Amino acid sequence: MNRREFLKSSASLSAASLSPAALRALAPTAAAAQMRQLDYSQVQLLDSPLRQQFEYNHAFFLALDNDRLLKPFRQLTGMPAPGEDMGGWYSPSPDFDPAKNFTGYVPGHTFGQYLSSLARAYGITGDKATQQKVHALVSGYAATVSPKFYANYNLPCYTYDKVVCGLIDAHQFAQDPIALSVLDHTTDAVMPYLPDHALTRAEMREHPHPNISYTWDEPYTLPENLYLAYKRGAGTRYHALAQRFLQDTTYFTPLSKNQNVLPGEHAYSHVNALSSAMQAYLVDGSEMHFDAARNGLRFVQQQSYATGGWGPDETFQKPESSGLADSLAHTHSSFETPCGAYGHFKITRYLLCATGDPSYGDSMETVLYNTILGARPIQPDGTTFYYSDYNNDAHKFFHPDKWPCCSGTFPQITADYGISSYFLTPRGLAVNLYHPSRVSWKQNGANITLTQSTAYPASGETVLKISTDHNRSFPLALRIPAWAGPSTRALVNGRTAPGLSPHPGTWLIMDREWRNGDRVELTLDMRRRLLPLDADHPNLVALMHGPIALFAIFPAPDRLTREQLLNANQIAPVTNHHIVTTETGDIEFWPFTSITDEHYRLYHQI
Ligand SMILES: [Zn+2]
Repeated sequence: MNRREFLKSSASLSAASLSPAALRALAPTAAAAQMRQLDYSQVQLLDSPLRQQFEYNHAFFLALDNDRLLKPFRQLTGMPAPGEDMGGWYSPSPDFDPAKNFTGYVPGHTFGQYLSSLARAYGITGDKATQQKVHALVSGYAATVSPKFYANYNLPCYTYDKVVCGLIDAHQFAQDPIALSVLDHTTDAVMPYLPDHALTRAEMREHPHPNISYTWDEPYTLPENLYLAYKRGAGTRYHALAQRFLQDTTYFTPLSKNQNVLPGEHAYSHVNALSSAMQAYLVDGSEMHFDAARNGLRFVQQQSYATGGWGPDETFQKPESSGLADSLAHTHSSFETPCGAYGHFKITRYLLCATGDPSYGDSMETVLYNTILGARPIQPDGTTFYYSDYNNDAHKFFHPDKWPCCSGTFPQITADYGISSYFLTPRGLAVNLYHPSRVSWKQNGANITLTQSTAYPASGETVLKISTDHNRSFPLALRIPAWAGPSTRALVNGRTAPGLSPHPGTWLIMDREWRNGDRVELTLDMRRRLLPLDADHPNLVALMHGPIALFAIFPAPDRLTREQLLNANQIAPVTNHHIVTTETGDIEFWPFTSITDEHYRLYHQI
């Protein structure tokens, strides 16, 4: 390109990183359509830890024997049930004795999630064996559907919710021919056992219950998948059912009025319920539920750790209490990681799309790199990583029970990494997460592929390459995290331009004609900074590098100075390891993804 052409093209670069409000103004149409999700098939993960997690979970559940997966449904409905018991929470067992022994806790509870994750994996990979397994599991499950399954069943809403998700995903992403009719039979079967509205845990305790586990059901999480079932063509019955289980009185209405009703509530299921509020907004246009979801997530963020995790001992804390600080000394069950991260990804994805506010992307990214990406892989016997530990003397450990809830959400969230990374905007594309990946979409009739190469977050450098069969003008938006420092910059084809000055906490929008071979280089200035635990503990801090929380690897002293922490040096760029130098020696600081069996600490008194 000669100088004149360059000036012409740079003049067409948008002069500003648009604020969320300005991005919203780009879409005068439906309020809920600021940004849209892509199909699973449109985003491919390239070689990276994200891809390794996705491929591991895909292969793991593809290889699990169908008879074992179907066994609890066959057993509880009196059918021949071949195959080995899965064990743990998954298989019926006389040993179940809450809260002492969780063997046999919720038979078949994660079946729908395993099915959902396989359907999504088929959507991503197009792998025929995966589609065949989805179809085989739906047929096998169909033969078991009977009210007998839910008679004397402690958590009917929980397991029904997951089965709804699995069946509508099998229908939507794996083109299962019978999934929606199997859903109808399932709904007929469970109907006598559903409460007439979304009971709270306190209300469940007032109802007669054979044992305490009957009071742990989660009817308030049902609407999201019921709304999705309705949207995917399962029928108006699901719309009515979704509305019936919205927990308005005790949860959404007060949240919408900015009342923090989270303290004391079960953490993951109440974050998960915020996605039900978002579906009420998207399907029914209910602004009250939109406000509830936004406020609810804000209250969660106000009591989050530096990792983005929340809910020590699975319980929300009182604002301005010492709950979070006490948790550092009193528990190792700091954040229910696969379930919590899955719920967090869903609500931030919904809110990002509905508002265009990039801070939801910042929040998702924090949870990704500091929690779920460091989860240990599920073991062949169902042993699963469940809690992240932020105790003052912390370590990684597996949950003692096999096949817990987190074994269901883990393969779901890894299947969602791609669709969480890029979104369609009203006129172009937004890049939300930085990791090696490729996205393909149609832009005004042109087939465009954007390929991202990066060692982020070990390095702040990301290269985006465009390939297209026709030149097309459209805005390409890049999320500039709120923590980004002043040296953050972007180049197009090696050159800068007045419109290319990124502002932290906004989208950098490059609105220009894109040609085959165009190349964007984004450099995020990843400064080290200290993040206090909360407003009441300004001197109890975590060391951050860009989106990454760094953990002091033991042995490490109890106290450090602000200067020592901020002078940390990155010693191994590929792994983001740092050294903090003190009078008594050097301390290594690692990201959560690097930790295996080491003891470590997240928060330091300065
Ligand atoms: Zn869980």
